[in-house]
Amino acid sequence: SKETGKNVYTFFDPRMNMVNSRKLELEQGLRKALEQQEFDLYYQPKIHIRTRKIIGMEALIRWQHPELGWVSPGEFIPIAEETGLIFSIGEWIMRMACMQNKAWQSQGYPPVRMAVNLSLRQFNQEHFVSGLAQILAETGLDARWLELEITESIAIRNEKYVINRLQAIKELGVSISIDDFGTGYSSLSYLKKFPIDTLKIDRAFVRDIAKSSDDTAIVQAIIAMAHSLKLRVLAEGVETKEQLAFLRRHACDEAQGYLFSRPVPADGMEKLLSRRIPL
Ligand code: C2E
Ligand code: CA
Ligand code: CA
Ligand code: CA
Repeated sequence: SKETGKNVYTFFDPRMNMVNSRKLELEQGLRKALEQQEFDLYYQPKIHIRTRKIIGMEALIRWQHPELGWVSPGEFIPIAEETGLIFSIGEWIMRMACMQNKAWQSQGYPPVRMAVNLSLRQFNQEHFVSGLAQILAETGLDARWLELEITESIAIRNEKYVINRLQAIKELGVSISIDDFGTGYSSLSYLKKFPIDTLKIDRAFVRDIAKSSDDTAIVQAIIAMAHSLKLRVLAEGVETKEQLAFLRRHACDEAQGYLFSRPVPADGMEKLLSRRIPL
């Protein structure tokens, strides 16, 4: 009847449909994006707070979809993870970042560490460590100029497994930082056990530090804890001089954010690297 016919439609929320069709379109687009060369890497400098020098950078992927335009990695990386496309895309990112850093060093730019974001699935991939060693060998980049950014989510797996894997990465000479620190896994006990080098304080905590909210206490505590564990600490999302002044006062080691530079393409990074005056 007409009644039931109407009811059928209640199952189709048109908004849901739009979300799904965009997701489907992104997924299909992602399958072709590598061979169509639609990806690019941008780079954002990391600053040593006391000297204001660029001591490293983070590679951030950018994707221009032929019809949809720029799609943010916050939207497409989860889809790449879900579909397993992150393996091939992640390998492209790693090779590209290592190649670029090696090229800059060969061209005589001051050597800095290149940080690459690693998704959980990549970290857990069976041959990840040997694949990484191969990319370093192929590109000729000395491992000490590479850093991997991993989130606290790695800590959900069996502890021995995680420690072994981190150890294997460290043995290559690659550094490890914990990204978005403070937002994820609640047990801090892993910090002492995991062979990591740096904590990156999530920008959600950095945002309000200058306004004496709870975040002031949290950021102070993270810095103190990191230092007592002999870890370096970097604050993400630094946008104002007030935030920087606070971080400096509390002996935070490094900072990254729009105050210094937005993520820029390779030629923009070359300009930053050749500056005589610190940022
Ligand atoms: P993330 O690793 O936490 O990267 C930091 C994000 O904050 C970047 O966004 C960056 O552009 C942005 N950002 C940097 N400074 C500031 C600031 O001062 N203020 C504000 N509001 N934002 C700032 P982006 O590039 O859109 O990346 C978003 C997320 O997507 C990343 O978060 C990361 O989880 C993921 N992602 C980006 N590139 C890659 C990649 O190459 N591989 C993987 N696996 N994930 C990536
Ligand atoms: Ca990151
Ligand atoms: Ca982050
Ligand atoms: Ca983040």
